[in-house]
Amino acid sequence: MNASIGGSRRPSAPRTSRLTVRLAVLASTVALGAVGLAVAATPSSAATCNGYVGLTFDDGPTSSTSALLSVLRANGVRATMFNVGQNVRGNQSAARAQVDAGMWVANHSWNHAHMTSMSQSQMQSDLSQTNSAIQSATGVRPQLFRPPYGETNSTLQSVASSLGLRQVIWDVDSQDWNGASVSQIVSNASRLQAGQVILMHDGIQNTRDAIPQIMANLSSRNLCPGMISPSTGRAVAPDGTPPPTTPPPTGTPTTPPPTGGCTATATTPNVWGDRYNTSVTVAGASNWTVVVAVTAPQRISTTWNGSPSWDSTGYVMTMRSNGSGNTFGFTTMMNGNSSARAQIRSCTTG
Ligand SMILES: [Zn+2]
Repeated sequence: MNASIGGSRRPSAPRTSRLTVRLAVLASTVALGAVGLAVAATPSSAATCNGYVGLTFDDGPTSSTSALLSVLRANGVRATMFNVGQNVRGNQSAARAQVDAGMWVANHSWNHAHMTSMSQSQMQSDLSQTNSAIQSATGVRPQLFRPPYGETNSTLQSVASSLGLRQVIWDVDSQDWNGASVSQIVSNASRLQAGQVILMHDGIQNTRDAIPQIMANLSSRNLCPGMISPSTGRAVAPDGTPPPTTPPPTGTPTTPPPTGGCTATATTPNVWGDRYNTSVTVAGASNWTVVVAVTAPQRISTTWNGSPSWDSTGYVMTMRSNGSGNTFGFTTMMNGNSSARAQIRSCTTG
């Protein structure tokens, strides 16, 4: 309900100067007396957060959720728990404990099925049943959804969006589900950049054992654990403010041939190692439809300021104006193709 507003909205606050509030969230962090050994130390209350990353733990709650929460609390970590609905129903006190420990709770489907083979109505009931289980156990209504196995399609995305859920996949896979050692998990996590999200799991000993070293690495790079913004799917400060610094626009504009009475111009204001943002400005119409295509295996993961729909391939997005003005944007995961950029195919009025 009211999902259309929350589903694809850019943060309304300006992306500048929110420096004051941010450090308060670290106040409860205890430096465990680790003197001298800077790299081995847990985050200290003096840590500077130049950016935030989203630590996520999937598939809980499990019989070892309380052990995970203990490690997270001892290391001053707030994380996002992508819970499986039937696990929540079977272990409501563990789900409540997640919230009590300062974690954010999110939707990871009812029973971890391959959802892309479901009908739209099956998707709908799966996700809403999970939302209800989480809400009744914790009092918190989920705003984020991660499809099992990261498998998604346009139908699933629009069902999630209609339930007020922002789809969040991941940028870095810790490989903990795949038998990674503690040092491999730590090494994978060291690739995290500001704004990014890492996949980990509840119920794995190596994951719990890796957390102190993951935190030491993040601290050494002035990165702090944050929440995942339901607006953008990116990691932000725990109070929801945007990161203190964003890269300046560096993209070169590309102007497509004008079609159908309006002109859409795309720029690429942000490029990261694994993804890029595209900003599209429409001239000549206030009520518009713009068709954009990305090159496989690239995928659009997040949009803002428009109402998106996808064709059956998932590579062609039709974006319609939704009253948010004449500029919309989206994030494209490169998935190994770092050179291609989104192309505008057409701009039509109405
Ligand atoms: Zn999972």
